[in-house]
Amino acid sequence: MALMTPEAFEDSLKKLKPRVFMNGKRVESVLDNPNTRTVVESNKASYEWALDPVSRPIMTCHSPLIDEIVNRYTHVSTSVDDLVAKAQAGTFTAERLGTCIYRCVGYDAFHSLAATTWEMDRDLGTAYHPRFLDYLKMVQSKDLSVAGALTEPRGSRRKRALEWPDPYLSLKVVEQKSDGIVVRGAKINISGAFASHELVVLPQSSHPEDEKDYAVAFAVPTDAEGITYVCQYSPYSAERDQADDTEELGNPRFGQRETSMVVFDNVFVPWERVFHCGEPKYSARLVTRFAKTHRMTCGGTCKVGFMNQIIGACKLIQEYKGLDKVPHINEQITEMVVLRETGRACGLAAARLGAEDPPGSGVFLPDEVMGNVSKLNICNAFWRTMALAGDIGGGLVVTMPSLKDLKNPETKAYVEEFFSFGSDVPTENILKVHKLLQNWTAGQHGVGTWHGAGPVMAQKIMLQRVVKFDHEKELVKKTLNLKDKDTPE
Ligand SMILES: Cc1cc2nc3c(=O)[nH]c(=O)nc-3n(C[C@H](O)[C@H](O)[C@H](O)COP(=O)(O)OP(=O)(O)OC[C@H]3O[C@@H](n4cnc5c(N)ncnc54)[C@H](O)[C@@H]3O)c2cc1C
Repeated sequence: MALMTPEAFEDSLKKLKPRVFMNGKRVESVLDNPNTRTVVESNKASYEWALDPVSRPIMTCHSPLIDEIVNRYTHVSTSVDDLVAKAQAGTFTAERLGTCIYRCVGYDAFHSLAATTWEMDRDLGTAYHPRFLDYLKMVQSKDLSVAGALTEPRGSRRKRALEWPDPYLSLKVVEQKSDGIVVRGAKINISGAFASHELVVLPQSSHPEDEKDYAVAFAVPTDAEGITYVCQYSPYSAERDQADDTEELGNPRFGQRETSMVVFDNVFVPWERVFHCGEPKYSARLVTRFAKTHRMTCGGTCKVGFMNQIIGACKLIQEYKGLDKVPHINEQITEMVVLRETGRACGLAAARLGAEDPPGSGVFLPDEVMGNVSKLNICNAFWRTMALAGDIGGGLVVTMPSLKDLKNPETKAYVEEFFSFGSDVPTENILKVHKLLQNWTAGQHGVGTWHGAGPVMAQKIMLQRVVKFDHEKELVKKTLNLKDKDTPE
């Protein structure tokens, strides 16, 4: 069985030596740094769940490629049922982690690569698809964690890449050799890559014919020579850095959604790991196929799981405060449930309406319209959920003292007395639940949810491109019996 144990996963990371920087310092070991450790823990949990008899049906599946049970996050969907299971896995992992499942971008990139390499081979006579499948077989049989990278720094959005003063603001092929390519540039906002085994890289956008050096997709080990990670750093990172006890934090084990800029300083990629090189037309295909898959994930699956955490915290606080029967709070929580279920419905619809794309490839991708609608819908739904949670949680969500004040003999009695709501619930529990809500409502999740998988304009542009309105216009014409000028009476 191609499944790694969580312990083996941790051991496997010890063998990698990624070059990581955070807050102005080198991170010698991503296993030991308190912030990078949260990514290790999140990925590790995905190995735990794959072996747990209860979650195994969600987290694993049969791979026709290697004829073995594999972690779902290494599998390319070959049916609508696979897409539905993918959606369920997204919610399952997110509601338990309360942060990213860092294997999801790689998982979605696999779908796009499987479909588009097949298409390129069919149209151009290239040999990318078998090469990609060989790579995927290796990933599956070793049960590797794979992060995904598309987003780039980019120059002025008004100008084409060739007009930028710095040509490397998009990742670029700088040399083609007999045994591989050399790439230079950077990817930004990349989730969890430094604590993964592999990084799959896709172009961020389409490129015209004369920008073919930017049309490149490949996979590299995360510690390949020339790769450097510069991690995000926020007040939440500082808080974790300084915490004596992670129990004081809003998400003790799994933390925030950790990303980094990944710099490629003349990184060599052997041909057997190159899946697209110099075919600009297919960069757009790679991006749009990734986008609809990832937008189903981000819009209709993981945020549903996040909302479960927020709703759970609101229900607990409602009970702590003796507000169980207050109509407006119950209405607010019902509104959250409706927002959550609308999100879930969009995700499941994207999966259920999914289809083989391209026909004949054997790869199933979510429905384009519903994939984009999933993400567009959740951007506002998530902010609204956080606003409602802020109302129910009260000012304490942002004004609460530290849990350390519960331990300090000089303040302990006051904190216990005045933050207990007169209930028999331990004050520590009350503060912890408020801290969890602080994490969601006053942290990075609003902007993170908005931008992850692209900001709303990206989905609107895609919807305007694919929805043609012929059907709707025809309906009105039929209803009114409208006739064209030259239609005979
Ligand atoms: C928590 C988190 C995790 C992420 N993880 C990953 C990951 O693992 N891998 C990955 O590849 N990416 C990842 N991303 C990146 C994410 O996909 C991008 O943040 C998103 O696509 C937006 O790009 P940007 O951040 O460069 O913002 P921008 O593109 O700069 O957007 C800012 C604003 O400018 C507008 N805008 C931008 N360009 C144009 C234009 N040409 N014309 C008109 N308006 C424009 C946008 O609509 C938006 O309103 C992650 C992001 C977050 C927040």
